[in-house]
Amino acid sequence: MTPVSTALEPCPACGAALRSALVCESCGALLEPRTPPTPFETFGLEMSYPLDAAREQKRLLALSRALHPDFHATASAVRRQRAEDSTALLNAAHAVLADDVRRADWLVRALGGPREDEERTMPAGFLQEVLEWNEAIAEARSAAPGSPERAALAPLAERLRAERARELQDVRERLEPLPERGAPALRKARQALNALRYLDRVLAELGELDLDPR
Ligand SMILES: [Zn+2]
Repeated sequence: MTPVSTALEPCPACGAALRSALVCESCGALLEPRTPPTPFETFGLEMSYPLDAAREQKRLLALSRALHPDFHATASAVRRQRAEDSTALLNAAHAVLADDVRRADWLVRALGGPREDEERTMPAGFLQEVLEWNEAIAEARSAAPGSPERAALAPLAERLRAERARELQDVRERLEPLPERGAPALRKARQALNALRYLDRVLAELGELDLDPR
């Protein structure tokens, strides 16, 4: 495995070693990365699929503070703008890192794996189940509340949630440790992510049917 280097140059203002590509946490200098930092570089976390959520949250708070407009209130308009832009980058990176599916999607693409429009298939065996589930949902949709078809949705949602956990586990196994660039595991991970996207869509749909007062 080739670890992707997240080594950063020292802080140009104070020379301290940097953890985040956005801000020096020693002297508070706002940095101007030459290229947009990855979510992992933004947080100063090693690129990997498993994520220590508590650690990520701690980093988010520390970096949010360092970039907070109050700290830069007396700075030039350019610096204030930089703090704002960096805060937006930080929040966007957090949205990717904190979400198991989005983090996996990002890693697959970063490692040269297929995007979702390049690999549309779902894992073998999944499609047959999809057809079954779609049928059950269509029946429930046209059935009255309280009907057996509607009642069947609760156990169906249970099955889908169990399936979701399995697919997420599959993604984890494909991405831990991180595969080589372009490795076949990335295509497999994409297929599992496709299944996850389908499951999330259907689970959301089931939630709506449940709440439907008809
Ligand atoms: Zn510094």
